[in-house]
Amino acid sequence: MALDEIAISRAIIESYSRKLVNALDVDVAIVGGGPSGLVCGYYLAKAGKRVVLFERKLSIGGGMWGGGIMFNEIVVQAQARNILDEFDIRTTEYEKGYYLADSVESVSTICSKAVKAGLKIFNLLSVEDVMVRDQTVRGLVLNWSAVEIAGLHVDPITMRSKFVVDATGHPAEVAKIIAKKSGIQLATKSGGLMGEQSMWAEVGEETIVENSREVCPGFYVCGMCANAVFGGPRMGPIFGGMLLSGEKVANELIRKL
Ligand SMILES: Cc1cc2nc3c(=O)[nH]c(=O)nc-3n(C[C@H](O)[C@H](O)[C@H](O)COP(=O)(O)OP(=O)(O)OC[C@H]3O[C@@H](n4cnc5c(N)ncnc54)[C@H](O)[C@@H]3O)c2cc1C
Repeated sequence: MALDEIAISRAIIESYSRKLVNALDVDVAIVGGGPSGLVCGYYLAKAGKRVVLFERKLSIGGGMWGGGIMFNEIVVQAQARNILDEFDIRTTEYEKGYYLADSVESVSTICSKAVKAGLKIFNLLSVEDVMVRDQTVRGLVLNWSAVEIAGLHVDPITMRSKFVVDATGHPAEVAKIIAKKSGIQLATKSGGLMGEQSMWAEVGEETIVENSREVCPGFYVCGMCANAVFGGPRMGPIFGGMLLSGEKVANELIRKL
């Protein structure tokens, strides 16, 4: 059979357009494809919810590929090991309570299982604003990352969701936009972003799970973003809190939906 380039192009354009149109009105929109966002998306999709994830970069996985200082091993504590088991990611016990996993196996497996569970992932799309109605976050404003990087003067598109989850890591990008533009008070001590504190693994890992929650109507945070919003410490290259925080927000949203 002769290959027709036009058939290839048509297949891509038609299929992607359908996928994008179906993503315009969903239950949950997650921003950021790091470990917390992916785990959150996996559990929501597994529960049958309509969930999409937007990632600015070409690659999915956020900061987990690099382990600690680019040594591509991750450490998780005992409480989070069952999440790696759920994904069938191999772990070895380093010493009591500390488990090691290969970061490449971890990211690629979580990503693959999340997609197979039904999470729709759109890479190369950046969230640049939110849709707010009646003091409630109701969706996202999206543009191609290439447009953002090139600084082109191109208008974005809008999608609607019952809930938005900010999983953008340290920069807490969506929370920052809401604090700056919407006039909504966040559920923090200051009513705005508290900012991340210096490294303290034990406290950081605990607070990240506590802080992964609703910040204002329609809007949740998880992962490193949760500590940036509520003022918890960073925790270094231990990833259990990221996984547990994604799971926690997914479970809360499943209950609400
Ligand atoms: C400067 C720096 C310092 C770090 N320090 C720590 C530390 O102290 N402790 C620690 O545990 N880890 C640290 N890490 C590693 C890593 O960020 C985290 O451990 C872990 O990966 C965070 O997981 P996450 O799911 O919260 O978000 P991340 O893995 O950071 O993933 C967030 C994803 O969101 C995407 N994104 C951001 N904004 C947008 C947007 N507007 N639209 C679409 N996508 C968006 C990003 O491209 C990224 O892929 C650091 C990373 C960096 C870059």
